[in-house]
Amino acid sequence: DTQVAKDYVNEVYELVQKRNPHECEFHQAVKEILESLIPALAKHPEYMDNGILERIVEPERMITFRVPWVDDQGKTRVNRGFRVQFNSAIGPYKGGLRFHPSVNASIIKFLGFEQIFKNSLTGQPIGGGKGGSDFDPKGKSDREIMRFTQSFMTELSKYIGPDIDVPAGDIGVGAREIGFMFGQYKRLKGAYEAGVLTGKGLSYGGSLARKEATGYGAVYFVEEMLKDRGLSFKGSTVVISGSGNVAIYAIEKATQLGAKVVACSDSNGYIYDKNGINLSTVKRLKEVERKRIKEYVTEHPHAEYYEGCLGIWSIPCDIALPCATQNEIDESSAQTLVKNGVKAIGEGANMPSTLEAINVFLKNNILFAPAKAANAGGVSTSALEMSQNSMRLSWTFEEVDAQLYKIMTNIYRNSVAAAEEYGHPGNLVVGANIAGFIKLADAMMAQGVI
Ligand code: GLU
Repeated sequence: DTQVAKDYVNEVYELVQKRNPHECEFHQAVKEILESLIPALAKHPEYMDNGILERIVEPERMITFRVPWVDDQGKTRVNRGFRVQFNSAIGPYKGGLRFHPSVNASIIKFLGFEQIFKNSLTGQPIGGGKGGSDFDPKGKSDREIMRFTQSFMTELSKYIGPDIDVPAGDIGVGAREIGFMFGQYKRLKGAYEAGVLTGKGLSYGGSLARKEATGYGAVYFVEEMLKDRGLSFKGSTVVISGSGNVAIYAIEKATQLGAKVVACSDSNGYIYDKNGINLSTVKRLKEVERKRIKEYVTEHPHAEYYEGCLGIWSIPCDIALPCATQNEIDESSAQTLVKNGVKAIGEGANMPSTLEAINVFLKNNILFAPAKAANAGGVSTSALEMSQNSMRLSWTFEEVDAQLYKIMTNIYRNSVAAAEEYGHPGNLVVGANIAGFIKLADAMMAQGVI
């Protein structure tokens, strides 16, 4: 019954806090997921009897390693590398690598934990993992990036493989870094194992539409959700935080669907362009020149630039898509969005809303698309890349995009159905978590105590 499930969840949550002291992001992700699973546990006491939660919250393996490299001045530098191999019940560990100075064990574990449920929800045969380093790519030369990523892969290569663990990109890791890592892995193995990494370039085994997939997928998901309330991107005003791979292709798809995207940001500040963001400028600044978003206003002087990140949520909009980083929307930003009449939130980043912010949205009946459902298009298309690599062929852009669209609408429908079935109609946080959990728990039960 429900009380037994609640006590079990509390017990496991306390265990996580005790075993992983000071890892606040990890605790936050665990709390959000475990609390939403109570109705599922109450209905399936066999999961409790078999210790499913205790097992799920403990990574199968956490690898931490030294990454030594030499900078352009000849100085030896050392960073810390991580890979968490969280759960392999459904398939090989799968998840991105993040290079950012904020990376630590807590960040990697929260991302890896979320990834298990996200990957299960996609319906594809992929387990959950995540990795990265506290290396800061900002301001580094191409040669420094290459030396660092080669050193990183020299160690990581011992633990990955197309049927073992398949990393991809995340913040700070894009096509350039994946290319350097793939080259290094190939030298070390002496074999062309195309499926060991995803997000590869198109000339060496990458998939068309992988680059666009996370942003496009988030917009497809939100459009489905809007449809159910008779709404649409068409004619709406949209605010999208970030200006990386997720944000850029969310802006592109939202604009194609007839929305006006008026703002985007980077870690220094945000731009507001009341005429709608000129995407080709943003793409050139960010993808080619690797400059700050601030430069946008020198080319478009009617636009405005503001320092800081939180201010972007004070811009009135119909739809907000946080596509930058974790905890970028706090309780008061959420209240401001609601006060200004926001109708829908779609999380493109991982865990961009705090627990308090999510409660503000749900209490006010705002359409809320949680990250592990809304941003699953990226990893889904990574799984499509793995399939193409195994078959040694490549599908057209249209074929991959059509599959992505189908996957996103399926995730939406399965999340709606699970929310309904477990007594929280309309609550996609509960729906997505439970839908991902049931498949995972069944796979773990079938495989014995693993
Ligand atoms: N980093 C992305 C995510 O958070 C993509 C992972 C992948 O493609 O493996 O899901």
